[in-house]
Amino acid sequence: MSINQAQQKEIAELKSTANQTFRPVVKDLEELLYEPIEVLDHGFVRVIDYMGDDAAVVQAARVSYGRGTKQISQDRGLIRYLMRHWHTTPFEMCEIKLHIKLPIFIARQWIRHRTANVNEYSARYSILDKEFYIPAAANLAAQADNNRQGRGDVLEGQEAHDVLEMLKEDSERNYTNYMKMLNLNDTDDSKIDESKQGLARELARMNLSLNYYTQWYWKIDLNNLLHFLMLRADSHAQYEIRVYADAILKIVEKWVPFTYEAFIDYRMHSVNLSKQMRDVIVKMIKGEEVNQATSGLSAREWDEMMTKMGITN
Ligand SMILES: Cc1cc2nc3c(=O)[nH]c(=O)nc-3n(C[C@H](O)[C@H](O)[C@H](O)COP(=O)(O)OP(=O)(O)OC[C@H]3O[C@@H](n4cnc5c(N)ncnc54)[C@H](O)[C@@H]3O)c2cc1C
Repeated sequence: MSINQAQQKEIAELKSTANQTFRPVVKDLEELLYEPIEVLDHGFVRVIDYMGDDAAVVQAARVSYGRGTKQISQDRGLIRYLMRHWHTTPFEMCEIKLHIKLPIFIARQWIRHRTANVNEYSARYSILDKEFYIPAAANLAAQADNNRQGRGDVLEGQEAHDVLEMLKEDSERNYTNYMKMLNLNDTDDSKIDESKQGLARELARMNLSLNYYTQWYWKIDLNNLLHFLMLRADSHAQYEIRVYADAILKIVEKWVPFTYEAFIDYRMHSVNLSKQMRDVIVKMIKGEEVNQATSGLSAREWDEMMTKMGITN
C-alpha cells in the first residue's frame, strides 16, 4: 500500500465536502484530486491543487495578441502556435501542486529542477516508514557497455537472485539498526530499552540507504513542468524517474488537453537537428549520396541522427 492510514483518512475528509467556486475547474482533474496514482513499489503521485486550464493559457496569450474570437478550435490553434514558437509565458499562468512519494535516489535527480517549490517530509522530526524500493526483476539491468549513464541487458538467473537478496537484506538491516539507534520498537514506537536515550532522528537517518522513500509537496507552473517532463519522460532518463514523469503526463493530459496535445507534437515527439544533420537530411531528400564519412558528423552524431529520424543504416 503506497498511502498510509492517516493519508487515507485525510483523502476521505477532503472529499467529504465539496466547495463552490467561481474559478474555472477541470472536471477530469477534479475526479483525480487527492487520489494516489501508484508508481514503483511504494511510490505515488497525487494532485493536491491546481490553478488554471487551457483557457487560462489562451486568455494570457490574448492579452498580447488581442481578444479575437473565443471558439474552441481557435483556442487549440493558438495553443499550438504558442508551443511551436516557444512563446512560453502564457503556460506559466497555470500551476499544479503534487504530493509525491519517491525513493531518495530519485529525489536527488528530481530536486535538480530548480523552478518548483518544494516542501519535503522531515526525517529530523518524524520517523521514516520502513519502505524501500526493490526493483522488479525486469528492471534489474546490467551496466550498459556503450553508455556510462545507461542500462544494458536484464540480469538473469543466480546473479539477479543474489542482487535482489542483497538489496532486501541490506535495506532490512539498515532499518532494524535505524530503529535500534532511535531506541524504538518498529511496531508501536515504544522504547526498546527504558535506560537508553536513543539517538536523535536527524542523525539516525544517515544509516538508511538511498532506496528508502521520502515524500514532498511539489508545486510548479505548467511551462516549467513541461520542461521537467521533456527531460524526465525521455528515453534517456532513468527508468525510476521516467515512470513518475509518465504518471504526471497522464495528469497533464486530463488537466490541459490542448496543451498536452501540442506538447506531444511539438516537443516530446519532435526532433532537434544540428545544421549538419539538417544538411544531410536535405541531401537524402534530394536523392544525393551521403554517408557518415562525407557528412561532417561524428560516428556517434550520425547514429543519433539515424535513431532520431527512425532510419536504419
Ligand atoms: C538524462 C539526464 C542526465 C543527467 N546527468 C547529470 C549528471 O551526470 N550530473 C549532474 O550533475 N546532473 C545531471 N543531470 C541534471 C541536469 O544537468 C539538470 O540539472 C537537470 O536536468 C535540471 O535541468 P534544468 O536546469 O534545465 O531545470 P530547472 O532547474 O527546472 O530549470 C529550468 C530552466 O530554468 C532556467 N534556470 C533555472 N535556474 C537557473 C539558474 N540558476 N541560472 C540560469 N538559468 C536557470 C534554465 O533555462 C533551465 O533550463 C542530468 C539530467 C538528465 C535529464
